[in-house]
Amino acid sequence: KFIVLEGSDGSGKSTLAGKLKDYYDQRGAKVLLTREPGGTDLGEEIRDMILRKQGEEMDPRTEALLYAASRAEHVFKKIKPAVEEGYIVLCERYILSSLAYQGYGRDLGPQEVLKINEFATGSFRPDVTFYLKVDWQKTLQRKIDQGGDRLELAGDAFFKRVQEGYQALAQSKGIHVLDAGKTPEEIYQECIKILEEVHG
Ligand code: C5P
Repeated sequence: KFIVLEGSDGSGKSTLAGKLKDYYDQRGAKVLLTREPGGTDLGEEIRDMILRKQGEEMDPRTEALLYAASRAEHVFKKIKPAVEEGYIVLCERYILSSLAYQGYGRDLGPQEVLKINEFATGSFRPDVTFYLKVDWQKTLQRKIDQGGDRLELAGDAFFKRVQEGYQALAQSKGIHVLDAGKTPEEIYQECIKILEEVHG
Protein backbone atom coordinates (compact mmCIF):
# COMPACT_ATOMS: atom_id res chain seq x y z
CA LYS A 1 0.00 0.00 0.00
CA PHE A 2 1.19 3.50 -0.90
CA ILE A 3 0.21 6.26 1.55
CA VAL A 4 1.06 9.91 0.87
CA LEU A 5 1.13 12.75 3.39
CA GLU A 6 0.75 16.24 1.98
CA GLY A 7 0.76 19.75 3.38
CA SER A 8 2.87 22.90 3.49
CA ASP A 9 6.05 23.33 5.54
CA GLY A 10 5.50 22.96 9.24
CA SER A 11 2.10 21.33 8.84
CA GLY A 12 3.21 18.25 10.78
CA LYS A 13 3.83 15.72 7.99
CA SER A 14 6.97 14.27 9.57
CA THR A 15 5.42 13.89 13.01
CA LEU A 16 2.41 12.08 11.58
CA ALA A 17 4.61 9.91 9.35
CA GLY A 18 6.66 8.82 12.38
CA LYS A 19 3.55 7.89 14.34
CA LEU A 20 2.11 5.92 11.42
CA LYS A 21 5.39 4.07 11.02
CA ASP A 22 5.26 3.04 14.70
CA TYR A 23 1.65 1.92 14.26
CA TYR A 24 2.53 -0.40 11.37
CA ASP A 25 5.80 -1.55 13.00
CA GLN A 26 3.90 -2.63 16.08
CA ARG A 27 1.62 -4.73 13.88
CA GLY A 28 4.58 -6.45 12.30
CA ALA A 29 3.99 -4.94 8.88
CA LYS A 30 6.88 -4.13 6.55
CA VAL A 31 7.05 -0.33 6.42
CA LEU A 32 9.13 2.05 4.35
CA LEU A 33 9.15 5.67 5.49
CA THR A 34 10.36 8.02 2.80
CA ARG A 35 10.15 11.60 1.65
CA GLU A 36 10.84 13.39 -1.57
CA PRO A 37 13.38 13.33 -3.13
CA GLY A 38 13.63 9.99 -1.37
CA GLY A 39 17.28 9.47 -0.67
CA THR A 40 18.30 8.34 -4.13
CA ASP A 41 21.67 9.90 -4.99
CA LEU A 42 20.46 11.42 -8.22
CA GLY A 43 17.24 12.61 -6.59
CA GLU A 44 19.25 14.40 -3.87
CA GLU A 45 21.47 16.06 -6.47
CA ILE A 46 18.46 17.28 -8.39
CA ARG A 47 16.90 18.57 -5.18
CA ASP A 48 20.09 20.50 -4.30
CA MET A 49 20.03 22.04 -7.75
CA ILE A 50 16.44 23.19 -7.29
CA LEU A 51 17.02 24.65 -3.83
CA ARG A 52 20.08 26.61 -5.07
CA LYS A 53 18.24 28.26 -7.94
CA GLN A 54 14.54 28.18 -7.05
CA GLY A 55 12.64 31.44 -7.27
CA GLU A 56 14.42 34.27 -9.06
CA GLU A 57 16.94 32.43 -11.19
CA MET A 58 15.07 29.38 -12.37
CA ASP A 59 12.23 29.34 -14.85
CA PRO A 60 9.14 27.74 -13.24
CA ARG A 61 9.00 25.13 -16.00
CA THR A 62 12.56 24.06 -15.27
CA GLU A 63 11.67 23.83 -11.59
CA ALA A 64 8.59 21.68 -12.33
CA LEU A 65 10.58 19.38 -14.61
CA LEU A 66 13.37 18.94 -12.06
CA TYR A 67 10.89 18.06 -9.31
CA ALA A 68 9.29 15.58 -11.72
CA ALA A 69 12.69 14.10 -12.60
CA SER A 70 13.59 13.60 -8.97
CA ARG A 71 10.18 12.01 -8.41
CA ALA A 72 10.75 9.57 -11.30
CA GLU A 73 13.91 8.31 -9.57
CA HIS A 74 12.09 8.01 -6.28
CA VAL A 75 9.14 6.09 -7.76
CA PHE A 76 11.02 3.66 -9.97
CA LYS A 77 14.05 3.03 -7.74
CA LYS A 78 12.33 2.96 -4.39
CA ILE A 79 8.57 3.33 -3.98
CA LYS A 80 7.22 1.01 -6.65
CA PRO A 81 9.62 -1.88 -5.93
CA ALA A 82 8.79 -1.64 -2.20
CA VAL A 83 5.02 -1.66 -2.79
CA GLU A 84 5.45 -4.67 -5.05
CA GLU A 85 7.37 -6.45 -2.26
CA GLY A 86 4.44 -5.92 0.09
CA TYR A 87 5.71 -2.89 1.98
CA ILE A 88 3.47 -0.17 3.29
CA VAL A 89 5.15 2.91 1.87
CA LEU A 90 4.62 6.15 3.79
CA CYS A 91 5.76 9.09 1.69
CA GLU A 92 5.94 12.77 2.61
CA ARG A 93 4.96 14.77 -0.48
CA TYR A 94 4.16 13.50 -3.94
CA ILE A 95 2.47 14.79 -7.10
CA LEU A 96 0.00 16.93 -5.17
CA SER A 97 2.92 19.03 -3.86
CA SER A 98 3.93 19.84 -7.42
CA LEU A 99 0.37 20.69 -8.39
CA ALA A 100 0.13 23.04 -5.37
CA TYR A 101 3.65 24.60 -5.46
CA GLN A 102 4.42 24.67 -9.17
CA GLY A 103 0.87 24.46 -10.56
CA TYR A 104 -0.68 27.09 -8.29
CA GLY A 105 2.26 28.71 -6.47
CA ARG A 106 4.25 29.34 -9.65
CA ASP A 107 1.15 29.74 -11.80
CA LEU A 108 1.97 26.96 -14.28
CA GLY A 109 -1.53 25.54 -13.87
CA PRO A 110 -2.31 22.16 -12.30
CA GLN A 111 -3.20 20.48 -15.60
CA GLU A 112 0.18 21.13 -17.21
CA VAL A 113 2.05 20.05 -14.10
CA LEU A 114 -0.07 16.92 -13.83
CA LYS A 115 0.85 15.94 -17.40
CA ILE A 116 4.60 15.90 -16.78
CA ASN A 117 4.06 14.05 -13.52
CA GLU A 118 1.94 11.37 -15.17
CA PHE A 119 4.89 10.79 -17.46
CA ALA A 120 7.46 10.94 -14.65
CA THR A 121 5.66 8.38 -12.50
CA GLY A 122 4.15 6.19 -15.20
CA SER A 123 0.85 7.24 -13.59
CA PHE A 124 1.77 5.44 -10.37
CA ARG A 125 -0.78 6.69 -7.84
CA PRO A 126 -1.08 6.57 -4.06
CA ASP A 127 -3.79 4.34 -2.57
CA VAL A 128 -4.58 7.05 -0.08
CA THR A 129 -3.56 10.67 0.40
CA PHE A 130 -3.87 12.78 3.55
CA TYR A 131 -3.65 16.54 3.42
CA LEU A 132 -2.69 18.39 6.60
CA LYS A 133 -4.56 21.63 6.28
CA VAL A 134 -3.01 24.73 7.81
CA ASP A 135 -5.09 27.84 8.33
CA TRP A 136 -2.88 30.23 6.32
CA GLN A 137 -4.71 33.33 7.52
CA LYS A 138 -3.84 32.41 11.09
CA THR A 139 -0.24 31.71 10.09
CA LEU A 140 -0.02 35.08 8.35
CA GLN A 141 -1.54 36.92 11.31
CA ARG A 142 0.96 35.25 13.61
CA LYS A 143 3.82 36.47 11.41
CA ILE A 144 2.44 40.00 11.40
CA ASP A 145 2.02 39.90 15.19
CA GLN A 146 5.63 38.80 15.48
CA GLY A 147 6.65 41.93 13.59
CA GLY A 148 7.26 40.54 10.10
CA ASP A 149 7.75 43.51 7.74
CA ARG A 150 6.16 43.92 4.32
CA LEU A 151 9.21 42.77 2.41
CA GLU A 152 9.55 39.66 4.50
CA LEU A 153 5.88 38.93 3.92
CA ALA A 154 6.16 39.29 0.13
CA GLY A 155 6.64 35.55 -0.12
CA ASP A 156 3.21 35.14 1.39
CA ALA A 157 1.43 35.74 -1.92
CA PHE A 158 3.14 32.56 -3.10
CA PHE A 159 2.27 30.79 0.15
CA LYS A 160 -1.38 31.86 -0.18
CA ARG A 161 -1.58 30.49 -3.74
CA VAL A 162 -0.08 27.21 -2.56
CA GLN A 163 -2.61 26.90 0.27
CA GLU A 164 -5.54 27.73 -1.98
CA GLY A 165 -4.23 25.28 -4.54
CA TYR A 166 -3.98 22.50 -1.97
CA GLN A 167 -7.51 23.27 -0.81
CA ALA A 168 -8.98 23.17 -4.33
CA LEU A 169 -7.09 19.97 -5.17
CA ALA A 170 -8.08 18.23 -1.95
CA GLN A 171 -11.73 18.82 -2.74
CA SER A 172 -11.61 17.76 -6.36
CA LYS A 173 -9.49 14.65 -5.85
CA GLY A 174 -11.17 12.97 -2.90
CA ILE A 175 -8.27 13.50 -0.53
CA HIS A 176 -8.64 13.10 3.23
CA VAL A 177 -8.25 16.49 4.89
CA LEU A 178 -6.81 16.62 8.41
CA ASP A 179 -6.85 19.79 10.53
CA ALA A 180 -3.17 20.62 11.15
CA GLY A 181 -4.23 22.86 14.04
CA LYS A 182 -5.18 19.88 16.18
CA THR A 183 -2.70 18.08 18.43
CA PRO A 184 -0.41 15.47 16.83
CA GLU A 185 -2.21 12.75 18.80
CA GLU A 186 -5.66 13.85 17.62
CA ILE A 187 -4.46 14.02 14.03
CA TYR A 188 -2.89 10.58 14.30
CA GLN A 189 -6.08 9.04 15.78
CA GLU A 190 -8.20 10.52 13.00
CA CYS A 191 -5.78 9.26 10.40
CA ILE A 192 -5.78 5.72 11.81
CA LYS A 193 -9.56 5.70 11.92
CA ILE A 194 -9.72 6.54 8.21
CA LEU A 195 -7.05 3.97 7.35
CA GLU A 196 -8.86 1.24 9.27
CA GLU A 197 -12.40 2.08 8.24
CA VAL A 198 -11.97 3.17 4.65
CA HIS A 199 -8.76 1.58 3.48
CA GLY A 200 -8.57 -1.46 5.76
O1 C5P B 1 9.46 18.71 2.00
P1 C5P B 1 9.72 20.01 2.69
O2 C5P B 1 8.53 20.45 3.47
O3 C5P B 1 10.99 20.05 3.47
O4 C5P B 1 9.89 21.05 1.50
C1 C5P B 1 10.85 22.04 1.49
C2 C5P B 1 10.49 23.15 0.50
O5 C5P B 1 10.47 22.68 -0.84
C3 C5P B 1 9.14 23.72 0.74
O6 C5P B 1 9.25 24.87 1.52
C4 C5P B 1 8.63 24.12 -0.59
O7 C5P B 1 8.79 25.50 -0.76
C5 C5P B 1 9.53 23.43 -1.58
N1 C5P B 1 8.79 22.56 -2.51
C6 C5P B 1 8.38 23.09 -3.72
N2 C5P B 1 7.73 22.28 -4.61
C7 C5P B 1 7.50 20.98 -4.33
C8 C5P B 1 7.91 20.45 -3.11
C9 C5P B 1 8.56 21.26 -2.20
O8 C5P B 1 8.58 24.26 -3.98
N3 C5P B 1 6.90 20.24 -5.27
